[in-house]
Amino acid sequence: MAGNWLLVENGTVIDATGAPAQAGAAVLVQGNRIHSVGTDVGEHLVPRGEPLARIDATGRTVMPGLIDAHCHMTYGESRSEEEIDLYTSPESRTLKAAFHAHKVLRAGVTGISQPGGSYYIGVGIRDAIRDEFVLGPRMTAAGRYITTSNGLTDWFPDSVGVPEGSIGVLANTLPAMINEVRHQVKNGVDLIKLADSPYGDYQAFTNDELKAVADLAHQLGKSLTIHARGSAEVGAALDAGIDWIMHGNAMTDEVIAKLAASRTPLVPTLLLLANITDYGKLVGAPVELRDGMARSLECTAETLHRAHDAGVIFTLGTDSGFAVTPYGEWHARELELLMTYAGLSPMEALQAGTVNGAKMLGLEGQIGTLEPGMIADIIIVDGDPLADIRVLQDKRNIVTVIKDGKPVVFDEEALSRHWPHERAITYSTADLTYDLVYGIDSPVPTGDGAPWSADDQADLVATVKTRESSAVMPD
Ligand SMILES: [Zn+2]
Repeated sequence: MAGNWLLVENGTVIDATGAPAQAGAAVLVQGNRIHSVGTDVGEHLVPRGEPLARIDATGRTVMPGLIDAHCHMTYGESRSEEEIDLYTSPESRTLKAAFHAHKVLRAGVTGISQPGGSYYIGVGIRDAIRDEFVLGPRMTAAGRYITTSNGLTDWFPDSVGVPEGSIGVLANTLPAMINEVRHQVKNGVDLIKLADSPYGDYQAFTNDELKAVADLAHQLGKSLTIHARGSAEVGAALDAGIDWIMHGNAMTDEVIAKLAASRTPLVPTLLLLANITDYGKLVGAPVELRDGMARSLECTAETLHRAHDAGVIFTLGTDSGFAVTPYGEWHARELELLMTYAGLSPMEALQAGTVNGAKMLGLEGQIGTLEPGMIADIIIVDGDPLADIRVLQDKRNIVTVIKDGKPVVFDEEALSRHWPHERAITYSTADLTYDLVYGIDSPVPTGDGAPWSADDQADLVATVKTRESSAVMPD
């Protein structure tokens, strides 16, 4: 790649180090690395006779590509938990993941980490992207979440168990956890994902379990992250040395102080909650789910503002992969949400979406800023994200995506496609009683005009409603 030069000139450069934007600046790339950045950078730095490509970024912002530390490529834009876990065939799920990776990259997301997914699909997609036969962001992957019977991802009754296609794997004893870590590492994961309690109202793993699992993963050269919504499990995860924390919705001042002092990044992953709260009505999310998520956001905002004041490091993560968080649609919305719900400044949000994700890619100090020697993952944006962070949300503003020093060519027509979902087998969305049909107070349904509201016609199974209506965050 040496001798292969690319000059992105005349743009406003935000290098994501925290330094102010530089107008009329250029970024010079050699091979897949940044050679130099600045207002005095130009063609004169390229040895005579060596090939040079140029991109004119006049009137545009040049910044590092976004990194999404919480992106589930195997979820396939699912509308229900059953679809994620029970309707998964490894073959179709893998092919969909490959197709969806293209969409994520088109949104200006040049790096992702998958904290849990079905089978070893994440490992396969990661390698296929690296070997350039699948187009997508650079990637790190966990295997299935390790959970207990009291954790997220053991959704179903014991009579069903945790199916083979599940995003989780059940390990109720320390030897079982250790065994699973060893298998996952052998099969090529970059990180281990632990699944503590769904809503953070209790700690599912014991302190000793967390410590032993973390020690083994680290000994084998791997990172760990944990789904931890409550204070107890965040505190325990920090004591165990877990490398970054997902969520942290409810945390005491003491745990926040520990989180800040440890420099362990927090990936709040607000997008899933905010999309359901704000836009769930548009896509049939049940009112119970929307209310539960709105309450969670309220509680989370209070916690995250305290965390921001204490100096906690924030990183962009979105839980993309659900039908309410489709691939390539909303990744950059998380930056706006971090400003709203945690109080980050535009520059802090931009760093949360770039340099702070380098750790989750296993590339700390090598990616996420525009500085000499860094990997050349760059986006060219119409608009100024520091003036309005929302410009990053509209893909039409992401004019050029440069990955590994090369401008990416997208198949825009293919990108507009969405797959049909594989829904749970639902017979109705309400009970067809005698009174509903003939009752004095109940109107008789005729034609398409059913007597229940659009809210009740939720396209989700009843178990989700029950689960979410009991979702009360601890104070
Ligand atoms: Zn997730």
